[in-house]
Amino acid sequence: MSQNHWEKNIFELIRRTSTDLPHDIENCLKRAYNREKKGSRASWSLSVILENIASAREKDVPLCQDTGTLIFYFRVPVGFDTNMLASKARLAVSKATRRGYLRQNTIDSVSGASFESNVAPSAPVFHFEQGARKTVEVILIMKGGGCENVGVQYSLPDSGLGAGRDLDGVRKCVLDAVWRAQGHGCAPGVLGVCIGGDRATGYEHSKEQFKRKMSDKSTVKVISRLENKILKEAQQLNIGPMGMGGKTTLLGVKVGALSRVPASFFVTISYMCWAFRRRGVLLSSEGGIKRWLY
Ligand code: SF4
Repeated sequence: MSQNHWEKNIFELIRRTSTDLPHDIENCLKRAYNREKKGSRASWSLSVILENIASAREKDVPLCQDTGTLIFYFRVPVGFDTNMLASKARLAVSKATRRGYLRQNTIDSVSGASFESNVAPSAPVFHFEQGARKTVEVILIMKGGGCENVGVQYSLPDSGLGAGRDLDGVRKCVLDAVWRAQGHGCAPGVLGVCIGGDRATGYEHSKEQFKRKMSDKSTVKVISRLENKILKEAQQLNIGPMGMGGKTTLLGVKVGALSRVPASFFVTISYMCWAFRRRGVLLSSEGGIKRWLY
């Protein structure tokens, strides 16, 4: 198969991610809409969001003007040429920008100049993982800037919150983050949480939670219970869609854990807005599409 298939199929992944919200997220938003009181501001906000999702899909245009940070997760066979993959993905990003599926969204932080193709030394973001497999899995997450701004990291113990180095301390941090955000970052969205790790891996692992489907429950029982408890308590804060009050402050909570050193106990929270753009594709080792994920 020609090397151009890699670029073509990654371009199609970007197009779908930008324009077509995954059904598991859309279904959560529909359930939220049905839960809210008819005629309320929450119900109105959710109806506008749902119309926007349908319109973007139908017209083949981006779901939101902020097409976000592009985060690619590649899982490849051992010894696979990851330089080739990165180069094809950069070409696909550049083409998707020219075609209007991505906004010119990448800025030189020193000069303020725009990288017009969205390709820069740190953009897009790539994560590679090699393993005993024959196929190449590519997952793309487009992470909006507004929701990125409300991500936060806590160091336990936190005396202000009365949060100790245990799961109840984690719960207090997460609810504090939700309270402080007050719907900023375009609620209702999903929290990705990492317990432990260091300052950098905490954020990485919290974002990896966004690869999980909305129906996915942690296989660790205490964590799964924590996810449910935080979701239930967050819904009682009456922050609601876009912070305008209501029963739906979050769509979901996904918690993961990493080991830590004795001196540190970080709780890291990443927030994903309602425009939860996450798509994936399974490719053969020659770059042909085997199936779409999500
Ligand atoms: S936070 Fe999300 S929905 Fe809000 S402007 Fe950014 S990308 Fe769009």
